[in-house]
Parts: sequence; structure tokens; C-alpha cells
Amino acid sequence: AIKITGLNKWYGDYHALKDVDLTVEHGERIVVCGPSGSGKSTLIRCVNSLEEHNSGSINVDGIEMKDADSINAIRSDVGMVFQQFNLFPHLTILDNLTLGPIKALGLSKKEAQDRAMSLLERVQIPDQAHKKPGNLSGGQQQRVAIARSLCMEPKIMLFDEPTSALDPEMISEVLDVIIDLAEEGMTMIVVTHEMGFARKAADRMIFMDHGEIIETGPPTEFFENPKSERCKLFLSQIL
Ligand code: ATP
Ligand code: MG
Repeated sequence: AIKITGLNKWYGDYHALKDVDLTVEHGERIVVCGPSGSGKSTLIRCVNSLEEHNSGSINVDGIEMKDADSINAIRSDVGMVFQQFNLFPHLTILDNLTLGPIKALGLSKKEAQDRAMSLLERVQIPDQAHKKPGNLSGGQQQRVAIARSLCMEPKIMLFDEPTSALDPEMISEVLDVIIDLAEEGMTMIVVTHEMGFARKAADRMIFMDHGEIIETGPPTEFFENPKSERCKLFLSQIL
């Protein structure tokens, strides 16, 4: 579980997160939406300490984020997938996937390759294992990025607009992989404006604006009956 209490984040004198409270239970799937600049990326980047917060607390699976040791422990539980796939272009897909498990988890090359291949099967591109990222489509590269993250056996996955850099015809192949993960019970926070996906996969929606969580609720309630004017306006613009 993730427990965020009274979280504040400033970039210089810009107040990017304002007293954010959020608890994500084990196995819960959260979808975060909101206008550009509302703090969605900042929020999830704080969860694995890619951004340092200024006040408040973040507790992940019972570990309080406070020093380098706790940050490392939390990071080993939390996988993250970005809009840009961030694969190493000079390495094959297989080597992209085995690097972390060999270096950080101490797996043998054989163990890491077995794990990598089974995850490539899971995201349905085992046939791409020996290619370089540049020879794959965007949708395939993003599925590699997801598989790479899963190779580290995270307990929680964070996705920051995982499909917004993709051509439209590739969006669903990536979302389907995330839906599979959700159905297997992975705890996840997904920042996305793909509301069809949200209806299918989310247990709970979160709407952010100006660094605050304005509204939260189960998808049906959230979409059928948004309470705040800001959320209504936002939904009317994207749906
Ligand atoms: P988007 O939908 O465009 O991805 P977002 O909701 O993810 O937006 P954030 O990226 O979290 O928004 O940014 C929140 C605010 O903080 C924005 O006003 C942004 O300009 C500002 N910000 C983000 N990163 C930095 C940074 N490194 N330095 C200064 N300001 C930043
Ligand atoms: Mg963002």
C-alpha cells in the first residue's frame, strides 16, 4: 500500500503539490487525470523519489521515505513506465531486460534471460528479443519498457501517460498489457487521459487541478456524476 499524507512540493517558488493525501491499497488500481500542469507527474514521481518532496510523508509498503536506504528499498518495490520508453538504444531488447536483474538483483545471465523471455511472451513480442529498440514500433517499445520494469518484480507499478507518445493504432496493444496486469492484481497508479481504459481498469479515479486532488471516486460515479465544476469542465473537454 501507498500512504501519502500532507504532501507538498515546490519547484522554486511554484507550489506544485498542495497538501496531497492519498492512500492506495494493496491491489488497488488508481487512474489519475487532470489538466496539463496540474501535478500528476510530480505526484507519481514523488512516490519513487524521482522528485524530492518538501513536506508531508510518503510510506510505501510500510517503509517511510526518509533517507537513502529507505528510498532504495521503496524503489526496489516500485516500477515506473514513462511516456518516452527510455530503452537503451544500443542494447538488444533482451539485454535491455536483463541488465537490471543481473546488476541489481544478482541474477545469473541465464536466470535473467529466462525471466526476460517469459515477460516478452507475456507482452506478446518474444520474437523481437534480439532486435534493437529502434527497429520496433512505438507500441512494441512501450511493451518492452513495461516488461523491463516487470523484470525487477515490483509490487507497485506507476505509469505516466504510457500511451500519449504513441500513434493511435498502437494505444490499445499497450493498454491491453496494463489491463492484464491490473487483472492479475498489481497495485498501480496510472496517469492517463484514456478514459475507456479508466472505465475498464480503474477501481478509483482521481482528478487533480493546480496541485490538488479535487475529486475522487469509482469510475461510474466519477464519469456519470462529477461533483466539482472543474472536473465537469475537464471531462467535457476530453470525452
Ligand atoms: P502534463 O499533463 O502536462 O504532463 P502534469 O499534471 O503531469 O502535466 P507536472 O509535470 O507534475 O504536471 O507539473 C506540475 C507543475 O510543476 C507545472 O506547472 C510544471 O510547469 C511545474 N514543473 C514540473 N517540473 C518542474 C521542474 N523540474 N521545475 C520547475 N517546474 C516544474
Ligand atoms: Mg505529466
